[in-house]
Amino acid sequence: MIFSNILSAIGNTPIVKLNKITSEINPKVNIYAKLEFLNPSGSVKDRMAKYIIEHAEQTGLLSPGSTIIENSSGNTGASLAMICAIKGYQCIITMPDKMSDEKKNLMRGFGAKVIVTPTNVDHDSPESYYSTAKRLATEIPNSYYPDQYNNQTNIDAHYRNTGPEIWEQMQGKIDILVAGAGTGGTISGVGRFLKERNPKIKIIAVDPIGSVFYNFFKTKTLITPHSYKVEGIGEDYLVKCLDMSVLDDIIQSNDKDSFLMTRLLMNLEGLFAGGSSGAAVFAALNIAKSCHIPQNILVILPDSGNRYLSKLYNDEWMKEHGFL
Ligand code: PMP
Repeated sequence: MIFSNILSAIGNTPIVKLNKITSEINPKVNIYAKLEFLNPSGSVKDRMAKYIIEHAEQTGLLSPGSTIIENSSGNTGASLAMICAIKGYQCIITMPDKMSDEKKNLMRGFGAKVIVTPTNVDHDSPESYYSTAKRLATEIPNSYYPDQYNNQTNIDAHYRNTGPEIWEQMQGKIDILVAGAGTGGTISGVGRFLKERNPKIKIIAVDPIGSVFYNFFKTKTLITPHSYKVEGIGEDYLVKCLDMSVLDDIIQSNDKDSFLMTRLLMNLEGLFAGGSSGAAVFAALNIAKSCHIPQNILVILPDSGNRYLSKLYNDEWMKEHGFL
């Protein structure tokens, strides 16, 4: 098949069965991985970015010469920057300083302007990546702020394409979905679609220790967030794109287990993914251990390992942070 440009190559990612990593866990359970890192810019975010941009074009929010401004942990920024390169929009991305240099350089490679902001500030502080993006969107004429954390079109992208794609590929034979939540768009959209098809499917989110989602889901209280190393999942406030009514449970992850599992995924399964993938697989393996009946678990691997060669794939970095 020949595509007219790279944007048509977004989606239709393969699902691969995990083998060695699951061999001693529970013979009744199959774990399948959806390889979202095989999207063109290397993450699941290509789907949502393309959908939001096309929606904005259709509803007149974007016009030739517009500037797209977004706050991103890097993956949405790369997706938007790739789309802007094809469509000819200007692109400005604000990103917290904890995110990898690889992500920054990736966005710059696609032609975006990247503004790095401090990680350890409140999300409503004027210095935060959200506030900086919002402010720039009011200052720069003819700009568009997708607002991925709150824009319900993010959920819709996954409800309309990732969800049906998974249902079709699995031929409906899925019992449990496991995915990390950052904006919440992936798990809310896919989860909503799968629940409509079969309400018995369990939707389980993964949240790093330090993020506020887990405690809010369990006790309706907001903890004081603290930072963690895994990138792209968890948040320090309640975001509108995480629809907790779709979730059956949230499992907490920690940096060390997430990173070691990510390395094992590469070592044992040949899957070159990022740290949030390890978090999701670690959670899926724990769920598998307690299953008493045959189950098919689908776990989403959101982004590529390329972005973390200087971090979780670097022994020195792992040792420095006490993970090896
Ligand atoms: N993993 C990584 C590496 C991500 O960048 C993101 C997006 N922030 C996610 C998981 C979670 O996806 P979502 O925003 O759809 O919840």
